[in-house]
Amino acid sequence: MSEIEQHKQRIVQCIRMLELSGIMDYNGHASVRLDDGRMLINIGSCQRSQVTQGDIVTIDFDGNVIEGQGKPPLEFHLHAGIYQARSDVDAVIHCHPNWSTILTTAGAEYLPVYAQGSLVYPLPILDSPDSINNVDMAKRLTDLLGDRPAALMKAHGAVTTGKSIVDAFVLLNYLEDNAQRQYMAQQIGTPYSFTPEEIALCREKLWNENLFKRTWDHFSAKLGEGA
Ligand SMILES: [Zn+2]
Repeated sequence: MSEIEQHKQRIVQCIRMLELSGIMDYNGHASVRLDDGRMLINIGSCQRSQVTQGDIVTIDFDGNVIEGQGKPPLEFHLHAGIYQARSDVDAVIHCHPNWSTILTTAGAEYLPVYAQGSLVYPLPILDSPDSINNVDMAKRLTDLLGDRPAALMKAHGAVTTGKSIVDAFVLLNYLEDNAQRQYMAQQIGTPYSFTPEEIALCREKLWNENLFKRTWDHFSAKLGEGA
């Protein structure tokens, strides 16, 4: 398998795992940066639960399709903006997950209520529900994101980034799991929010390539053969 095919296969796995977990719905997209200002990204119209390498196209940062069939998602600007602003980022995921989006819809702050969820804390929130479907919105998002690995968009969705698609996938899982736990805890009491010292310790222990790989493997094992 060529390097490009390996990247495509990782994107396919990532999208299928997110769909299977209920984190990604019929929208949502994942990308990997290539050299020369290009990226691999799933087409907007693909069936997320059945996505294949044929649904992954190569585009430039203006959204022109260089290789493959189909159109990139309208929010490709989000990916292009982050890659141009962040030389340290080589993979981006954006979707509209329930629990973290409920928090921003309700105006609730994301709290670090469990260890893995603290890795993305503090989590900036874009003060607009608009799609990131133009350069101006992408700039607003990248300005907000700064050097952080993830952000939420008010009443819209979440974005995670990483050096690899594994990083971005794992952080999105942690973020959404944390948001669900926080929401549940808020129904019966006041959630315990980790202290700065506890967050620092989590970061030291849990921001670890082997543990990220283990999380990825946990979900990819559920996909079974053919994905
Ligand atoms: Zn969106």
